[in-house]
Amino acid sequence: MSPRDVASGGIGQAELGDFDGIKAEAHFLQTIRKSGGTEAHVKNMAFYAQTTQFAEDINLKYPALYDSKDDIIYFNTKHPSFDKYDIEFIMAHEISHRMDILQYKSWEDDVFMRAIEMSAQGISSHVDGIMSVFSVGSEYENDESLSDIVSALSKGTINVPTGHPIEYWEQGDVYVATEIFSALSVIDVLGSPSIKMVEKYFVRLLNAYRGLVK
Ligand SMILES: [Zn+2]
Repeated sequence: MSPRDVASGGIGQAELGDFDGIKAEAHFLQTIRKSGGTEAHVKNMAFYAQTTQFAEDINLKYPALYDSKDDIIYFNTKHPSFDKYDIEFIMAHEISHRMDILQYKSWEDDVFMRAIEMSAQGISSHVDGIMSVFSVGSEYENDESLSDIVSALSKGTINVPTGHPIEYWEQGDVYVATEIFSALSVIDVLGSPSIKMVEKYFVRLLNAYRGLVK
Protein backbone atom coordinates (compact mmCIF):
# COMPACT_ATOMS: atom_id res chain seq x y z
CA MET A 1 0.00 0.00 0.00
CA SER A 2 1.35 3.31 -0.99
CA PRO A 3 0.75 6.98 -1.32
CA ARG A 4 -0.33 8.16 -4.72
CA ASP A 5 0.96 11.58 -5.50
CA VAL A 6 0.14 11.81 -9.15
CA ALA A 7 -3.26 11.80 -10.76
CA SER A 8 -3.79 8.29 -12.00
CA GLY A 9 -7.12 9.08 -13.57
CA GLY A 10 -10.15 6.86 -13.64
CA ILE A 11 -11.01 7.27 -9.97
CA GLY A 12 -14.52 8.15 -11.07
CA GLN A 13 -17.05 7.83 -8.34
CA ALA A 14 -15.57 8.35 -4.90
CA GLU A 15 -18.20 6.81 -2.70
CA LEU A 16 -18.07 5.11 0.64
CA GLY A 17 -19.64 1.94 -0.75
CA ASP A 18 -19.31 -0.92 1.71
CA PHE A 19 -16.61 0.75 3.74
CA ASP A 20 -17.87 2.21 7.00
CA GLY A 21 -15.43 5.09 7.48
CA ILE A 22 -17.13 6.44 10.61
CA LYS A 23 -17.03 3.10 12.38
CA ALA A 24 -13.44 2.47 11.29
CA GLU A 25 -12.37 5.89 12.55
CA ALA A 26 -14.09 5.47 15.94
CA HIS A 27 -12.54 2.04 16.38
CA PHE A 28 -9.13 3.30 15.38
CA LEU A 29 -9.30 6.23 17.80
CA GLN A 30 -10.11 3.82 20.64
CA THR A 31 -7.05 1.77 19.74
CA ILE A 32 -4.58 4.61 19.51
CA ARG A 33 -5.77 6.27 22.71
CA LYS A 34 -4.31 3.21 24.45
CA SER A 35 -1.11 3.38 22.43
CA GLY A 36 2.22 3.44 24.22
CA GLY A 37 3.97 4.85 21.14
CA THR A 38 5.81 8.17 20.80
CA GLU A 39 3.47 10.49 22.66
CA ALA A 40 3.50 13.51 20.37
CA HIS A 41 3.06 11.29 17.31
CA VAL A 42 0.17 9.33 18.82
CA LYS A 43 -1.66 12.56 19.69
CA ASN A 44 -0.97 13.91 16.26
CA MET A 45 -2.29 10.73 14.67
CA ALA A 46 -5.52 10.99 16.66
CA PHE A 47 -5.94 14.50 15.27
CA TYR A 48 -5.21 13.35 11.72
CA ALA A 49 -7.57 10.39 12.05
CA GLN A 50 -10.40 12.76 12.84
CA THR A 51 -9.64 15.02 9.90
CA THR A 52 -9.18 12.37 7.23
CA GLN A 53 -11.65 11.77 4.45
CA PHE A 54 -12.30 8.16 3.45
CA ALA A 55 -13.85 6.83 0.30
CA GLU A 56 -14.30 3.51 -1.47
CA ASP A 57 -12.84 2.86 -4.90
CA ILE A 58 -13.51 -0.67 -6.04
CA ASN A 59 -11.12 -0.27 -8.98
CA LEU A 60 -8.14 0.40 -6.74
CA LYS A 61 -5.30 -2.04 -7.30
CA TYR A 62 -4.41 -1.98 -3.58
CA PRO A 63 -6.66 -2.76 -0.58
CA ALA A 64 -6.14 0.86 0.47
CA LEU A 65 -4.19 3.91 -0.62
CA TYR A 66 -3.66 7.53 0.39
CA ASP A 67 -4.18 9.83 -2.56
CA SER A 68 -2.43 13.11 -1.79
CA LYS A 69 -3.93 14.91 -4.78
CA ASP A 70 -7.46 14.26 -3.55
CA ASP A 71 -6.32 14.14 0.10
CA ILE A 72 -8.49 11.07 0.56
CA ILE A 73 -7.75 7.58 1.83
CA TYR A 74 -9.37 5.16 -0.58
CA PHE A 75 -10.35 1.66 0.41
CA ASN A 76 -11.20 -1.22 -1.83
CA THR A 77 -13.22 -3.63 0.27
CA LYS A 78 -13.63 -5.83 -2.84
CA HIS A 79 -9.87 -6.28 -3.26
CA PRO A 80 -8.94 -9.99 -2.97
CA SER A 81 -6.56 -9.29 -0.08
CA PHE A 82 -8.65 -6.70 1.76
CA ASP A 83 -9.82 -9.18 4.40
CA LYS A 84 -6.28 -10.33 5.10
CA TYR A 85 -5.50 -7.00 6.75
CA ASP A 86 -6.55 -5.68 10.13
CA ILE A 87 -8.46 -2.47 9.69
CA GLU A 88 -6.24 -1.00 12.45
CA PHE A 89 -3.18 -1.76 10.38
CA ILE A 90 -4.62 -0.23 7.23
CA MET A 91 -5.79 2.90 9.04
CA ALA A 92 -2.45 3.40 10.82
CA HIS A 93 -0.45 2.79 7.65
CA GLU A 94 -2.44 5.07 5.36
CA ILE A 95 -2.91 7.85 7.93
CA SER A 96 0.87 7.73 8.46
CA HIS A 97 1.31 8.36 4.74
CA ARG A 98 -1.02 11.34 5.01
CA MET A 99 0.87 12.72 8.02
CA ASP A 100 4.20 12.21 6.28
CA ILE A 101 3.15 13.91 3.05
CA LEU A 102 1.32 16.82 4.68
CA GLN A 103 3.66 17.37 7.61
CA TYR A 104 6.80 15.35 8.32
CA LYS A 105 8.15 15.05 4.74
CA SER A 106 10.50 12.20 5.62
CA TRP A 107 12.09 12.21 2.15
CA GLU A 108 13.38 15.76 2.71
CA ASP A 109 14.98 14.94 6.07
CA ASP A 110 18.74 14.48 5.72
CA VAL A 111 19.08 12.40 8.88
CA PHE A 112 16.28 10.05 7.85
CA MET A 113 17.57 9.70 4.28
CA ARG A 114 21.13 9.06 5.49
CA ALA A 115 19.81 6.42 7.90
CA ILE A 116 18.03 4.73 4.99
CA GLU A 117 21.22 4.76 2.96
CA MET A 118 23.31 3.30 5.81
CA SER A 119 20.69 0.68 6.68
CA ALA A 120 20.41 -0.33 3.03
CA GLN A 121 24.18 -0.82 2.88
CA GLY A 122 24.18 -2.74 6.17
CA ILE A 123 21.37 -5.06 5.14
CA SER A 124 23.57 -7.06 2.77
CA SER A 125 25.71 -8.28 5.67
CA HIS A 126 22.62 -9.46 7.57
CA VAL A 127 20.58 -11.10 4.82
CA ASP A 128 20.53 -14.55 6.46
CA GLY A 129 19.59 -13.18 9.87
CA ILE A 130 16.90 -10.98 8.39
CA MET A 131 15.45 -13.78 6.27
CA SER A 132 15.26 -16.07 9.31
CA VAL A 133 13.02 -13.44 10.92
CA PHE A 134 10.38 -14.25 8.30
CA SER A 135 10.72 -18.02 8.44
CA VAL A 136 7.54 -20.07 8.67
CA GLY A 137 6.27 -20.20 12.23
CA SER A 138 8.33 -17.19 13.30
CA GLU A 139 6.70 -14.48 15.38
CA TYR A 140 7.21 -12.02 12.52
CA GLU A 141 6.25 -14.29 9.63
CA ASN A 142 3.22 -12.13 8.83
CA ASP A 143 4.52 -8.78 9.99
CA GLU A 144 3.66 -6.46 7.12
CA SER A 145 5.56 -3.47 8.46
CA LEU A 146 8.84 -5.29 9.01
CA SER A 147 8.42 -6.90 5.62
CA ASP A 148 7.84 -3.46 4.04
CA ILE A 149 11.01 -2.08 5.63
CA VAL A 150 13.18 -4.90 4.28
CA SER A 151 11.50 -4.69 0.87
CA ALA A 152 12.12 -0.91 0.74
CA LEU A 153 15.73 -1.04 1.99
CA SER A 154 16.64 -3.76 -0.47
CA LYS A 155 14.49 -2.16 -3.19
CA GLY A 156 12.67 -5.43 -3.68
CA THR A 157 15.80 -7.56 -4.12
CA ILE A 158 15.34 -9.40 -0.81
CA ASN A 159 12.33 -11.60 -1.17
CA VAL A 160 10.05 -10.97 1.82
CA PRO A 161 6.49 -12.19 2.47
CA THR A 162 4.92 -8.89 1.41
CA GLY A 163 6.35 -5.78 -0.13
CA HIS A 164 6.54 -4.04 -3.43
CA PRO A 165 8.29 -5.33 -6.55
CA ILE A 166 11.60 -3.87 -7.81
CA GLU A 167 9.79 -1.62 -10.33
CA TYR A 168 7.91 0.10 -7.54
CA TRP A 169 11.09 1.11 -5.71
CA GLU A 170 12.75 2.17 -8.95
CA GLN A 171 10.31 5.10 -9.09
CA GLY A 172 12.55 6.94 -6.64
CA ASP A 173 13.71 7.50 -3.10
CA VAL A 174 10.50 9.27 -2.10
CA TYR A 175 8.75 5.92 -2.43
CA VAL A 176 11.36 4.22 -0.28
CA ALA A 177 11.24 6.94 2.40
CA THR A 178 7.44 7.19 2.64
CA GLU A 179 7.00 3.41 2.85
CA ILE A 180 9.65 3.05 5.55
CA PHE A 181 8.20 6.00 7.45
CA SER A 182 4.70 4.47 7.45
CA ALA A 183 6.01 1.07 8.47
CA LEU A 184 7.93 2.51 11.44
CA SER A 185 4.97 4.68 12.42
CA VAL A 186 2.66 1.64 12.46
CA ILE A 187 5.13 -0.38 14.56
CA ASP A 188 5.42 2.57 16.97
CA VAL A 189 1.74 3.46 17.30
CA LEU A 190 0.31 -0.07 17.29
CA GLY A 191 3.04 -1.37 19.61
CA SER A 192 4.07 -4.18 17.25
CA PRO A 193 6.41 -6.85 18.70
CA SER A 194 8.59 -6.32 15.61
CA ILE A 195 10.02 -3.23 17.33
CA LYS A 196 12.57 -5.72 18.77
CA MET A 197 13.78 -6.60 15.28
CA VAL A 198 13.88 -2.94 14.25
CA GLU A 199 16.01 -2.21 17.31
CA LYS A 200 18.26 -5.13 16.47
CA TYR A 201 18.80 -4.48 12.75
CA PHE A 202 17.69 -0.91 12.03
CA VAL A 203 18.31 1.14 15.15
CA ARG A 204 19.72 4.10 13.23
CA LEU A 205 16.55 4.21 11.16
CA LEU A 206 14.42 3.99 14.28
CA ASN A 207 16.26 6.91 15.87
CA ALA A 208 15.91 8.98 12.72
CA TYR A 209 12.17 8.23 12.70
CA ARG A 210 11.89 9.23 16.38
CA GLY A 211 13.66 12.48 15.57
CA LEU A 212 11.06 13.23 12.91
CA VAL A 213 7.97 12.60 15.04
CA LYS A 214 9.02 13.75 18.50
ZN1 LIG B 1 2.19 2.33 1.98
